Amino acid sequence: MDRSHDVVIVGGGNAGISLAARLRRLGLDDVAIVAPGPVHRYRPLLNYVAGGQADLDRLTKPQREVIPDGCVWIQDRAAAVDESRNQVELEGGERVGYADLVLAPGLEHDLHAILGLEASMHDGWSTTAHLSATAESTWTAIQRTRRGKVVFTIPPEPAPCGGTALKPLFMACDHWRREGVLPDIDVHLVSPYSEILDVPSVENHLRRGVERFDVTVRHRATVATMDPATRTITLDSNGVDEIISDVEQAFVVPHYRAPRWLAPLAGDQSAGLVDVDPRTLRHRRLDRVWSLGDAAAVDTRPSGGALRRQVDVLADNIRRSRSGETLREYDGYTIIPITLDRRRLLLAEFDRDGNPQPTVSFVDLTAPRRVLWAFDRYLEPIVYYRGLLKGRV
Ligand SMILES: Cc1cc2nc3c(=O)[nH]c(=O)nc-3n(C[C@H](O)[C@H](O)[C@H](O)COP(=O)(O)OP(=O)(O)OC[C@H]3O[C@@H](n4cnc5c(N)ncnc54)[C@H](O)[C@@H]3O)c2cc1C
Repeated sequence: MDRSHDVVIVGGGNAGISLAARLRRLGLDDVAIVAPGPVHRYRPLLNYVAGGQADLDRLTKPQREVIPDGCVWIQDRAAAVDESRNQVELEGGERVGYADLVLAPGLEHDLHAILGLEASMHDGWSTTAHLSATAESTWTAIQRTRRGKVVFTIPPEPAPCGGTALKPLFMACDHWRREGVLPDIDVHLVSPYSEILDVPSVENHLRRGVERFDVTVRHRATVATMDPATRTITLDSNGVDEIISDVEQAFVVPHYRAPRWLAPLAGDQSAGLVDVDPRTLRHRRLDRVWSLGDAAAVDTRPSGGALRRQVDVLADNIRRSRSGETLREYDGYTIIPITLDRRRLLLAEFDRDGNPQPTVSFVDLTAPRRVLWAFDRYLEPIVYYRGLLKGRV
């Protein structure tokens, strides 16, 4: 073994950095973060970049600036976990020992899960807000489109806050309405759900939103193949092929998957995600291994907002497990913020059973409001960098 640390965290994204900061606040003084760097992104702003409301520069910081004080940054990628020796193997060849290991490497987008997607993106016929490389060109494509058929998608789970793929759709429709070209644009939405997101507390508002902009919704469908030469998209619609032809512009979100090197730590039912007890966030088989964030099988839809509770529970549970106390439980709280047009936003907040979990009770946050849009667009990035990543929220 080359070196060892008390707690080793794999992943320097929202989950890994927030947890490291929280552990430092709890008094743990030997925390190492394995993160390749060199940049850290506040990804919720990508949708606003695609909606023409934010600059890409604003969501990016050097990784070194977000590593919490007192933590060791190991600038490499994890390649495997040697569970018999309590060591992480890094791509660079080093082995790092741990007393507790936290896996937070997020999800990977898979351009090959949809046949033809990569070529379609290369061609410029398809673009997505969900990737930093194409968020800006999504806004360019929205501005360029003046007529014809367009197709937006919501990715199937697991996906990083997949429901927010509705944000660029509604912002684009509102832009086209203001430009006076919406009547000439035939907007389609492909959703893997029976309703729009299958979140009962907000379905009424979402339905009114798609009706307002005359969007045709294809339910229980995912994109199977795309052909940039013929401008055709084939859907897997509940097991049946369905073709959308003459597509002027596609806004297809790639599908996501768990990192493959995690497979030995995944369970039969966990879709390749780290097989933790969804309540305690502890690995079902390995007592000193934990996981949170998008890579963890926590039985709820992944989001950055979900991490507020996960970080709190997991940091405390590492401490509790060491002193033999009963572990705390995460209720599966998650959040999907959705803009309904360029200036109004609603919050879908719910637990793993789909029950509403509003953060505040004095105002209905599931109704679209201008103040929520302003909060999400302008205040959340500040709360993220100054609060969440500092282990304060
Ligand atoms: C377009 C978009 C919009 C979103 N909007 C919202 C929103 O409005 N609200 C909300 O709550 N959430 C939103 N999310 C979701 C939110 O960004 C994610 O849920 C959150 O970032 C998950 O954090 P994470 O740390 O688990 O994963 P990530 O943020 O993906 O971080 C994982 C980190 O691990 C690193 N890594 C990967 N593999 C390895 C390895 N082998 N070794 C070491 N490090 C590795 C990666 O480089 C990355 O830095 C959005 C996501 C996207 C993409």
